[in-house]
Parts: sequence; structure tokens; C-alpha cells
Amino acid sequence: MWATLPMIIHLDADAFYASCEQAADARLRGKVMAVGGSRRGIIASASYEARRLGIYTPMPTANALRLVPNLTLVKSNFDRYEWFSRRMFEFIEDLTPWVERTSIDEGYFRLPDGNTQDPLEVARQLQETIERRLRVTVSFGIASNKLISQIVSKLKKPRGLAMVPLGEEAEFLAPLDVKWLPGVGGRTETALKGAGFQRIEQIRESSLARLAAVVGDYAPRLQQYAAGIDERPLVVERGEALSYSHQETFNVNLTDRGALERTMKTLLDDLIRQIVDDGKSARTIAVRVRLDKMQDTERSESLPEPSSLAEDFYPLIERLLDRAWDGRASVRLAAVRLSNIHEGVVAGDLFTRAEKGKRLALQKTMHDLQRRFGENAIKRGHACEN
Ligand SMILES: [Mg+2]
Repeated sequence: MWATLPMIIHLDADAFYASCEQAADARLRGKVMAVGGSRRGIIASASYEARRLGIYTPMPTANALRLVPNLTLVKSNFDRYEWFSRRMFEFIEDLTPWVERTSIDEGYFRLPDGNTQDPLEVARQLQETIERRLRVTVSFGIASNKLISQIVSKLKKPRGLAMVPLGEEAEFLAPLDVKWLPGVGGRTETALKGAGFQRIEQIRESSLARLAAVVGDYAPRLQQYAAGIDERPLVVERGEALSYSHQETFNVNLTDRGALERTMKTLLDDLIRQIVDDGKSARTIAVRVRLDKMQDTERSESLPEPSSLAEDFYPLIERLLDRAWDGRASVRLAAVRLSNIHEGVVAGDLFTRAEKGKRLALQKTMHDLQRRFGENAIKRGHACEN
């Protein structure tokens, strides 16, 4: 029976960074602890013991310490989290080639063709194996599509495990808050609720015109989601975590270092817009250059913590370009790639929270203007000269 109904399984590790720290250091287990920046930073992940006392992410560290003075604060170690992430996904990739990693601790998979095992049982075993071997707990949601499986795993945290049977998608969604639907958050959520849409069933039952008055062109898609319909396919790249890349081939080979650097930064700006749209951040950047009749050269470097702010990556581009290109041969192609993708905004110690917040707000304003008035409405300096 299962062979004919390929269910999609969403996995999402629980309080991932905090759990990795607790797994790595026995003294932190069972403790009220959190991973985050120092006093002027923010909490990036809080243990369940800390959440019970009202610590959440992203909460300013200063507020967290005021609320829970005995909170154990651990400095983030992203090499460690990426190591745990690889191990965790290996358990799944041993089982099936159909895996899509969407961030360091989240992804979708389905069981291989011809599978006859109950997916609930498979997920239960994985959950057990991962907890026993890695000491981190993971939640699993199973359903006929991505939308539902993802909501199930998040609703049931921690150590969640549940399935919504085929045909029961709309019924499952009906009573939930509209904020669970893709694309609903912030201003859209406020607008929907202001117009009387509180629960998902109200979106499903609305006339399209009434819904369009609030969300515009997004109305038909949103109504489909509200009915539990989601045709987004699994995007599988064997053994590869999610990354974002962009390249440019030059009509006339480049020999000017300044022009090359500006091109790379502009490529990065595009990638940053994409990761921000997807609600993610990245830790690693790679630059690649292709010289005439020569192999590509790629160099990469990681920030101490993930970021979704273009400015954090500019100095890395400058350094990497020095290492990838000696300036002697002309360049045919330039490429930039972001990897080690994390969920949400992580702002710890690179800038103080206030400073980072200001820069992120400025970047967001730029993105909004570009969306409304076109790419050329507002540009960074390096995008103007080429
Ligand atoms: Mg998670």
C-alpha cells in the first residue's frame, strides 16, 4: 500500500544548536541553557529547560539574563552544529536517495520506490537511532505533501511524530492559525487577521475576490494551500545540502581587479536577496573564477556565525578573490555560492545587536524598493560602476 502512496516526511531537529551543545558537554544536559551572543547579542537557540522559563529565540540576551539570571550562556560553535547536521542526514541518506535538505537541521525525504514499510515506523526508528547515537532529538511529520508534513513536525515538537493520512489534509489545517501557511507572516498575517481571517478554514471558504483584496495575486495559491493542496516537488541533490549560487560569463574577458570584485559583490547581493526571501541565512561563501582555457579555481571561507547581511560577506569576497586569482590572466567567468544554510536570522557577535539590526533594516528597505521599482531603483556603490 505504501509503495503506491509516497508520503513526504519532514524532519526538524529540536532546539538544534542548544541540543548539540548539550550532546557535546554532559554538564549542560538538563540545564537551563542557551546558545547566543554575549550581553549585547541575541539568543540563537534555547534548551527546552530554558524555554519553560520563558526564554525564546531571537530574544535579546540582556532580556534573557534579566528574566533568568542563572541562565548558562554558551558561545555558538557552528562547526559543531554543521558536524551534527551531516551525521543526522547521513542516517536518512543511508535509507533513501530522496532527501532534500532545506537548512542545517530541516529537510524532507520520502522512502525509496518499492518501499513497503509504514513510514511512521521508519520515522520512529530514525528518531530513536538519532537520539541514541547523536543525543539530539528530532521531530518528524508525515503527509502527502511538503506543506502538511512540515506543519505536523513543528506542531508536535519536541520528539514529535505524527502522520496526516491522505485525504485528511484540509480537515487537519482547518482549525489552525493562518500564520502556519507559507507566505503568511508579519504584515500579511496582520492584514489577514484585520480582514477577519483567523483560522485556515476561513481562507479556504472565502471567495477569491475577498481574499485577493488582502493578499492580491497570492490569493489563488494561498487558497490552495488552505485546502491542503501543495504540489511543490522534492528537490533532491544527492549528498548535497542546500546552497545558493549565481554566476556571470563575460562577453569580454575581465582583467580589472576592481571590476571583478564589483561583479562578485553584485552576484552576492542577488543571492542575499534570495536567502532573505526564503527566511534563511548562510555561513559559508565560495568564489570561483574561470580563466581562459584553464580550470576553475574556487576558494571558500566561513563566517563565525551565519548571516543574511551582504556587508558581512564583502570582506570575505575581497580576501577570497586574492586567493583565487593572481591577476595575471583574464577572467571569463565569475561565480559566487552561499552554503551552510541556516534557518532564520542569527545575530550574535559580529556586530552588536542594535548595529546589526540597523544594517538589516537598511538592507530590507533596499530590497523592498528594488521589488517595487525595479533593480535600478537603488543600488550599492559596487553595482554602479560596471
Ligand atoms: Mg529545528
